[in-house]
Amino acid sequence: MNKGKLVIIVGCMLSGKTTKLISIAQDLIKNGKKVGIFHPAIDTRYKLNAISSHAGGSMESHALSLNTKHIEKGDLQVAIIDEVHFFNENILEAIEGLLNEGVDVYIGALNKDYLAKPFATVEKVLPLVDKKIELKARCSVCQQPAEFSYRTTASKDLFFIGGAESYEPRCGKHYNHV
Ligand SMILES: [Zn+2]
Repeated sequence: MNKGKLVIIVGCMLSGKTTKLISIAQDLIKNGKKVGIFHPAIDTRYKLNAISSHAGGSMESHALSLNTKHIEKGDLQVAIIDEVHFFNENILEAIEGLLNEGVDVYIGALNKDYLAKPFATVEKVLPLVDKKIELKARCSVCQQPAEFSYRTTASKDLFFIGGAESYEPRCGKHYNHV
C-alpha cells in the first residue's frame, strides 16, 4: 500500500487556514473521496461538531481529545485535522498511523504562538510533511502581508482561545514596534 501524503497549512491568526481546509475538503468530497474532519476538543469558540472559518464557512467535524494518539481509519481516504498546535505530541502517532495506512492527511496549524515561538507539536510534525502551504494575513496596521499573531488581550496563556477580538495579524515591523 502506498503511504499517504502529509500536507500542512500554516499561518498566523486570521490567515485563512480553516477556510483553506474547508475548500480542500469540499474539492475532495466532490471528487468522491471519503473525507473525515477532526479538531481539538479544546476549541469551544464554534459549534462542537464543526470547524468554522472566520470567513463564515463551516463543515461537520469530530472533536478529538488533546491526548489523541490514534484515529480510526475506517473507510477514510483523507483526514483533515485543524488546529494541530493544540494537541500534544501524541497526535504525531495518530498522523503517522493514518499515513502508514495510506490515508492522506491535511493539517492546519498556527506558525507561531503569540510570543512568536513555534509550538512544540508543530515543530515535530514539520519534518514529516510532504507539502507545506504557508498563508499570510494582512497586517492590521499597514495592510502588508502578516505572519505574526499579535495578542490584544492581557492573557499570558499560550493556549488561550480567541478569535478576531483577541488577536490581530501583524507584519514583523508592527509586531515588534507597537
Ligand atoms: Zn505592518
